[in-house]
Amino acid sequence: MSNPHCVFCRIVRREAPADIVYQDDDIVAFRDINPQAPVHILIVPRRHIPAVAALGAEDGVLAGRLILVARELAEREGIAHSGYRLVVNNGPQAGQSVYHLHVHLLGG
Ligand code: 5GP
Ligand code: ZN
Repeated sequence: MSNPHCVFCRIVRREAPADIVYQDDDIVAFRDINPQAPVHILIVPRRHIPAVAALGAEDGVLAGRLILVARELAEREGIAHSGYRLVVNNGPQAGQSVYHLHVHLLGG
């Protein structure tokens, strides 16, 4: 469920610092440490799911909720009207560098 060597698991467990902007029973969101846009937030499941490739059929609701939380945060951050990108990298050639599933919210 949690991987002691995973930086995002450590953030979820509050063992590593992060600017957390949202949390609920299943999902945590925090600002990217190296922002590529004025608003750059990562939305992650609390559970250690390494990538899209590791999602099970039973994870459909969780995967959908990652997008709904991203939309809510876009509204809160004031970029819903101007527009934003949701990005999920999967695998080395896509540039995935942290193997704990995350949705990038980019805008502003
Ligand atoms: P990926 O390339 O895997 O899709 O994106 C990983 C993202 O995680 C990168 O944008 C990177 O800046 C961010 N990141 C990596 N380590 C940390 C960290 O310790 N804290 C935070 N807040 N973001 C991180
Ligand atoms: Zn993890």
